[in-house]
Amino acid sequence: MANIDEPSQRRRLTAKERGEERQQSINEWQALWDTTPKGRWTHMLIRDVETLFNRKHFYLTQFLNVHGCFREYLYKYGHDDAAVCSSCGSERDNAKHVFSHCPRYNTYRINLET
Ligand SMILES: [Zn+2]
Repeated sequence: MANIDEPSQRRRLTAKERGEERQQSINEWQALWDTTPKGRWTHMLIRDVETLFNRKHFYLTQFLNVHGCFREYLYKYGHDDAAVCSSCGSERDNAKHVFSHCPRYNTYRINLET
């Protein structure tokens, strides 16, 4: 009897089937996300898993995991020539600097606080 888990024995899913599988996975992920006691701060910021999954919160995700397009991180891995903030000259351009200190984002910060 052929093993149906063998790649050669699997048939390709149709686009409709892939969409259904994807939606089922998102629904399961959403149920876990809504009920787990961990990550409540992040849950408050991002309630809808599907929105995150569709990368509509790309920059927010970078803030939450502190990786991404911050010069400190890019410099650490050799993708930039310096770690300083190109806006204000702070020594370390990272998520905390941008979110809490960089004068470039003062207007956004004030709007968030109010
Ligand atoms: Zn700055």
